[in-house]
Amino acid sequence: MPVAVVLASSALSLTIAARAALLIVAMAEVPAEAPIIQGALQLGIGSLILCGFLWRQRLAWQWGRVATALGFVLLAVMLFALGRAPSVRWTSVPFLLTVLQAAPLPVIFFALGTESACDWFRLRCATCQRLSSVSADFLFTRARCLWCRTTW
Ligand SMILES: [Zn+2]
Repeated sequence: MPVAVVLASSALSLTIAARAALLIVAMAEVPAEAPIIQGALQLGIGSLILCGFLWRQRLAWQWGRVATALGFVLLAVMLFALGRAPSVRWTSVPFLLTVLQAAPLPVIFFALGTESACDWFRLRCATCQRLSSVSADFLFTRARCLWCRTTW
């Protein structure tokens, strides 16, 4: 496994752990209002993507890039809005856990964009050796080259 994928997997594990801790804190503080279903869904999707990294699934690579980019933007906007609210303390545990959840996301995005990570996820065209991130089917079990139209 290339260093970039190890880095992305470690960063995703940290994000999942921070999200799980945030859910536990929310359940301990106000059990009735804890976003249990939302948190469980996020943890499930994150765990599936992590398994996909280890099993070299192209769909996990694609979701890893898209979900981390969107997740970082959403968390950054949320943290910015929370940071401006006078009632929120920057040193509170939920705020720090949210920062810990958001901080590794750019690492995952950029690590997955490296050439070695693309090779790990079999995104190199078998014919012309160029990298391609185009899916040939719905679950990305086959990739298609933009340059020579080969599928593999
Ligand atoms: Zn090609």
